[in-house]
Amino acid sequence: MLQKVIILFIILFFFNIQLLIFLGYKPLIANCYRCNQKLENGFLNGTSGQLECSRCCSSKIKINSLSIKLIHKFFNTHIDKIDTLFNLNQQSLNDIKKYFFHYILYHIQNMRKSKAYINYHKRT
Ligand SMILES: [Zn+2]
Repeated sequence: MLQKVIILFIILFFFNIQLLIFLGYKPLIANCYRCNQKLENGFLNGTSGQLECSRCCSSKIKINSLSIKLIHKFFNTHIDKIDTLFNLNQQSLNDIKKYFFHYILYHIQNMRKSKAYINYHKRT
């Protein structure tokens, strides 16, 4: 059961990433948006809407290095391979879900008007 839920989230993350890429909002995840240092842990800056390093930002919306690597892997994986190549633990799943929720709300501002989108993320 848990594995099925994780696979659903993997498909959701894949969809989120593809949608963001096609809309022109591909997230910058390799380097800090402000100082360009390679990211170990990333913090979503509420002003820039981008990930920044711990020296540049102290947001509560944080993703660790494992989650950053997983997101990078989503960029480079064909949909036919997504169910076999990912090993998401609960912490990474929650971090990535929270990151995408806030990233999408920042960059696609009409999503703030969608009660279905807001409520979906409150429930899960
Ligand atoms: Zn920085």
